Amino acid sequence: MGREEIVMVCCSDIAGQLRGKGFPAKLLAGRLNRGVGWTPTNIMITAHGSPSDSPWGPFGDLVLLPDMDTHTRVDFADDSAIEQFVLADICELDGSPWACCPRDFLKRGLAALEAEFGLTLKGAFEHEFHLDTVEERANAPYNLDAFRRQDGFAENFLWALAEAGVEADTFMPEFGPGQYEVTVAPLTGLGIADRAIITREMARATAHRRGGRASFTPILRPDAVGNGVHVHLSLQDAAGKPVMHDAAREAALSATAGSFAAGMLEALPALVALTAASTISYLRLTPNRWSAAYNNLGLADREAAIRICPVFETTGAPAAEQLHLEFRAADAAASPYLLLGGLVWAGIDGLRRALPAPPITTADPARMSADERAALGLERLPLSLAGALDALAWHGPLKAAMGDPLHQAYLAHKRFEAAEMAPLDDAAQCERYRLSY
Ligand code: GLU
Ligand code: MG
Repeated sequence: MGREEIVMVCCSDIAGQLRGKGFPAKLLAGRLNRGVGWTPTNIMITAHGSPSDSPWGPFGDLVLLPDMDTHTRVDFADDSAIEQFVLADICELDGSPWACCPRDFLKRGLAALEAEFGLTLKGAFEHEFHLDTVEERANAPYNLDAFRRQDGFAENFLWALAEAGVEADTFMPEFGPGQYEVTVAPLTGLGIADRAIITREMARATAHRRGGRASFTPILRPDAVGNGVHVHLSLQDAAGKPVMHDAAREAALSATAGSFAAGMLEALPALVALTAASTISYLRLTPNRWSAAYNNLGLADREAAIRICPVFETTGAPAAEQLHLEFRAADAAASPYLLLGGLVWAGIDGLRRALPAPPITTADPARMSADERAALGLERLPLSLAGALDALAWHGPLKAAMGDPLHQAYLAHKRFEAAEMAPLDDAAQCERYRLSY
């Protein structure tokens, strides 16, 4: 049978889903300025496919304008359709950014970071996920046998990533049965988030062709270990020189890095509404799960919300080039654009106010007394999505950064989702999210 190669033009939306429209790939070059039509209400569709209360109803026209830097075409050469998509900005019909475009929220943040402070963001997303084709055995953690039991998925996946222009860094069997992790090489700017989306889609595309599913759900079951998204980030000056390191300061963290981290941590109780955007995200953000339960900066601490990552002396690379932060209070229910945009805007707030570097915790905040926590300025992160959304509703800097249309749409969408999930118990919610992500 004959075949027409098709390309999808897609946007990453509030639900952290990739949605769009397709057309014959041969028309792509001629359609770059026209894109595909879109409608405002689409951004109100929850992860579970329900149209939340939309301020737009059936009204309005928008356009998805593809960014060819993100053009992804992978021919798995196995008789399946060629995997092909381009990520897009959600624009008004005159091409200006739509006020609710998640990608534009990040773009604006990156532009402000550069205009106000001369800084560029460098980073990469580290993803954990579950493969449902792998038998769940208790001996899984980091086990060569658990690696083997993904049965060639990793080879196909890393090949697909390379075809898609994503440089893989590591692939490993993670702690949980059926759980794996992939890390990719860092980029600067917008590409960090684009690459996160392409990475997730390549995992899904590979698993699909092998007859299974890769799920990036925040947590598979209430008693499972979570699937974290850890965002590795550092700042560079206009000449591309890293600005994170200052040997004279605590943990060698520069004043700039300290202010940026302080901004993220101060905003964290509201920021998690953007970075941990599902109801079950809050099952993961609990103590003793190697995720994050408090707004702390930790050194070599895999339960800190922000971890100062180690400098590997054996590489011989200067510490200044290696030192970076890892934001751990995130998962893949969030659009990478909203997640990273939230981090950037919160960091900018810390830089604008020249906040002092946060204290570095070396003990578990969950085991500290309330007084000890208060002395370090530590707060327990919200216990639910609803709680996080209430904090976001009143958070001045994030509200200003998002702008009223996106802020209101986000709150309405996610409050609807929280209400939609409320009648279900934790296990049933996990099952719904497993299928959505
Ligand atoms: N699975 C943990 C999480 O939910 C992270 C484990 C690790 O340190 O890689 O974030
Ligand atoms: Mg991990």
